[in-house]
Amino acid sequence: MAEGKLITLSVIKADIGSLAGHHIVHPDTIAAATKVLAEAKRKGLIIDFYVTNAGDDLELIMTHTKGVDSPDIHGLAWDAFKEAAKVAKELGLYAAGQDLLVDAFSGNVRGLGPGVAEMEFVERPAEPVAIFMADKTEPGAFNLPMYKIFADPFNTAGLVIDPRMHEGFIFEIYDVFEGKYVKLSAPEEIYDILAIIGTPGRFIVRRVYRKADGEIGAVVSVERLNLIAGKYVGKDDPVAIVRAQSGFPAMGEILEAFAFPHLVAGWMRGSHHGPLMPVPLRYSKCTRFDGPPRVIGLGFNIKNGRLVGPSDLFDDVAFDETRRLAQTVAEYMRRHGPFMPHRLGPEEMEYTTLPQVLEKLKDRFKIEEKAVKAKKPQIRSELLEETHD
Ligand SMILES: [Mg+2]
Repeated sequence: MAEGKLITLSVIKADIGSLAGHHIVHPDTIAAATKVLAEAKRKGLIIDFYVTNAGDDLELIMTHTKGVDSPDIHGLAWDAFKEAAKVAKELGLYAAGQDLLVDAFSGNVRGLGPGVAEMEFVERPAEPVAIFMADKTEPGAFNLPMYKIFADPFNTAGLVIDPRMHEGFIFEIYDVFEGKYVKLSAPEEIYDILAIIGTPGRFIVRRVYRKADGEIGAVVSVERLNLIAGKYVGKDDPVAIVRAQSGFPAMGEILEAFAFPHLVAGWMRGSHHGPLMPVPLRYSKCTRFDGPPRVIGLGFNIKNGRLVGPSDLFDDVAFDETRRLAQTVAEYMRRHGPFMPHRLGPEEMEYTTLPQVLEKLKDRFKIEEKAVKAKKPQIRSELLEETHD
């Protein structure tokens, strides 16, 4: 690893209110947050910053030398969100201040509402990174692309042909129900990895490390889900950082993982499955049924902590077919209306407002007294040992 400066890249996001419903951030709130960060840059607290939006989420991208979980940086982000929320309230925006769950900041935004993806690394001579920001979905939405980027040679040619990646990567996977994590190694344990991350509502790929030297390759926000350790407290629109090139997957390999618009949970009221559609910034606005869920990607080079860029990564006709397929899938799923699997299953609906509706019906269910109690069938013993195909 080349000697360079130790830099922290922090992406911190929050929904502090949006224009005309839940689909887009108001430009004045972006301006309010920008003002706070510009002042912090002038004072030298951060090296550089970029403010943008993923649908109704305000996204703060910052570089600094304070390390991960710095109270100074988290406090700065909190101030920026507070200022933006103040503007949102003045403008009467919808759900103003929604993600700022507490009144007072206490050293770290984790658990207070905003989502955080941060990584610290020694800057390489060229340090390309991709920052993905999704709206109307959950952190587990990144499981499939992360697997493809770092473990699937049919996606990432470098896993086969680049000696620096050939040993593979370590996946750190977080269980949001239990508040536990496990590190599993690809390619040796890919079946174990898939066995758990295929349940993206519970197990989330939180970090990925290069096995050869332990260097961090990717990080995904899982913050709101940490709110009460061991207790699942709902979904959040996620952000992710992925480092590219020179021993990491090429930028094109990283983006290739988004060429398939896989089904994710989220969309309207966080209660529906729909395709994750990669879009350029100008389409970062969730309108149809508050969706479909979408992801934007910004590419930067980091030089002495400076954010050079961005390049709007999905602003490419090569993703037109992905978007077209996503639209077709969105239409197909929508036709199910309130039926599963468009609507999420009962386990996940438990965290929505549906239980209140069901509570109302509870006393109207009558016991069917004349029901013939089915006898427990005696299964032939040999059947229990047979393999069914
Ligand atoms: Mg959102």
